[in-house]
Amino acid sequence: MVIAKVIGHTRAKRVLQNAMTENRVAHAYLFHGPAGTGKTTLARAFAGALLCRQGTGDACGKCSVCHRVNEGQFPDFFVLHPAGNNIKIDQIRELQRKAQFKPYEADRKIYLISQAESMTRDAANCLLKVLEEPPPDTFFLLTAVNQHKLPPTIVSRCQLIPIGKVPLDQIKQMLVEDIGVGPEMAALYASLSDGLPGVAREMAESGKNLQVRELVFYLVEQIEENDINGLLKTAEEFEKKKDVLNQVLEQLLLWYRDQLIWVQTGEEKLVINIDKLNKLKNCSTAAGRDYLVKSITNILEAKSQIEQNVNLRLTLEVLLIRLSRTA
Ligand SMILES: [Zn+2]
Repeated sequence: MVIAKVIGHTRAKRVLQNAMTENRVAHAYLFHGPAGTGKTTLARAFAGALLCRQGTGDACGKCSVCHRVNEGQFPDFFVLHPAGNNIKIDQIRELQRKAQFKPYEADRKIYLISQAESMTRDAANCLLKVLEEPPPDTFFLLTAVNQHKLPPTIVSRCQLIPIGKVPLDQIKQMLVEDIGVGPEMAALYASLSDGLPGVAREMAESGKNLQVRELVFYLVEQIEENDINGLLKTAEEFEKKKDVLNQVLEQLLLWYRDQLIWVQTGEEKLVINIDKLNKLKNCSTAAGRDYLVKSITNILEAKSQIEQNVNLRLTLEVLLIRLSRTA
């Protein structure tokens, strides 16, 4: 992956490329932003650009160095992930030890520390020592969802690279060109991902979210038909599907959000569930604004109760009956 081909993040890419062409690359960078935005993808591309000798301001993407960096086989490029829940002191000690050696093949070494906020306190202290006196020709690329979970002493030694959401049309294009998803499905995944290319890619590759979506629209049918017996049965089944319940409620929320947006604005381009536009138009007109606002409140309330471990089955039953029009 070369920097120019990473989707979105125009500003971040410019900062990194300027640093390279102007020969003032910092010793440490912290890529921070929501999960699924592409922090690690961009950090990897930056590592490739720093190691490849063919390109200026970017990797060439074709040489042996680039191939090996992409495959995680290049001897001067190290990637640290949490081992279990945390990045542990042993991992950082190993990094500290290796960082003393000269580069093996390139003229520099790169350490990518993914999910840096998962470092234990000891690990973070150890890394801080390394960052305080960085070995020559060694660069550290950290990624974190929440920079405030890192010790400020580490953050202050990094150049911050904020990473935000990616425009939906770029995500759609990536899904079509890189994964071969059809344009309609790509548009849908892009909308559902809410600007997170990692999430869109996972949906497209696993199809898992499509199963969740089928469940959601099965539920929507039952709600539309005021099928109370069916809804109670569904609540019972969802009790056994706790792993997907949160996603189901998220997507149900998006469905009601879409209806409300449609009722208020009538603008198709604001709709997320674009493949269900006809259904959306029919449902929302029949539902009306007040019912939709109330339904959204009810779903949010149920979500928060479930997070607080209130009786799951009861919460779901109450929610589904409230969503049906008889309530
Ligand atoms: Zn190259």
